[in-house]
Amino acid sequence: KGRPGKGTIVAQTGEQVFAGYTTVPQNDWRIISMTPVSKALAPAQLTAIKAATIGFPLILISFLVLIGLIIFITKPLNRLSLLDYKKPIGEVIQETRGLNSPYREAENIRAMILSFAENQQVMLRDFEEMAVTDPMTGLANRRRLNQLIQMIRDNEESFGYVLLDIDRFKSINDTYGHVKGDQVLIKLAKLISSVTPHSGLPIRIGGEEFAIILQETSPDDIIAFSEHLRHSVEQTDFSLPQRITVSIGAGYLGSDSYDVSHFYNDVDQQLYKAKRKGRNCVETVFIIEGKKYIS
Ligand code: GH3
Ligand code: MG
Ligand code: MG
Repeated sequence: KGRPGKGTIVAQTGEQVFAGYTTVPQNDWRIISMTPVSKALAPAQLTAIKAATIGFPLILISFLVLIGLIIFITKPLNRLSLLDYKKPIGEVIQETRGLNSPYREAENIRAMILSFAENQQVMLRDFEEMAVTDPMTGLANRRRLNQLIQMIRDNEESFGYVLLDIDRFKSINDTYGHVKGDQVLIKLAKLISSVTPHSGLPIRIGGEEFAIILQETSPDDIIAFSEHLRHSVEQTDFSLPQRITVSIGAGYLGSDSYDVSHFYNDVDQQLYKAKRKGRNCVETVFIIEGKKYIS
């Protein structure tokens, strides 16, 4: 109709072609231009193939980098979350220390866990210490005594066990009051500690009864130590009008297989003997190669 136009048509060859036509008004010429679709689109297809061959590896690399980044970020957190908190606290601290986090957030979490674990360890140590300590005198208690004796027996070593009981302590309480009685116990505990050798362990058994475990010792050392202790107590000023004295049952158990509970009983008997003999004295029992030697 004389108007310019364009479109896709099917040529006589059956091929799809892009066609454009127009009319030149001056001479009424009609110009038709035709290009097969396949030819017209060829450069675009080439560009698409080129883009795909370059773009795909780029996308792949980006994807791999992303995965790497995700692993990098989550790995320290993952390892922190996998920590076995039921393990001994020392091992948890060791593992937490080994986790070096490359970025700040994970590092903060790691530091928080580490500080928490270390606090727990300090608390645990305090509780363990409390469990084996007599709160009033600060000496070891019976639990600690049992642990030490177990260790000594496991190692098949000999030891000395010096058991002492304050004489007529009830009358000290009755006369001067419980507070004064407590002060006497605390002062006596300090005195016992000061005369006990480094290898020994002073213990408050309970009430006004104390004991000392002596290691690397001999019957003669035990007699000398017990007499020195008894004498020191007698000589000490407890800020009371009267003297404080103690009765002592002192024992030595050689490295033989004699039953420890029998040995404790033997020492107890000797303490009672000291009381019966008039108090402020030492009675001994030594177990050497299965034989019992009693004073
Ligand atoms: P003995 O010479 O026969 O040992 O006489 P005793 O009076 O020392 O013995 P007894 O067993 O009759 O009395 C022990 C006293 O120790 C009784 C109790 O009031 C006192 N006692 C025990 N534990 C404590 C304590 O923690 N503080 C005070 N102040 N007294 C205590
Ligand atoms: Mg007693
Ligand atoms: Mg007593």
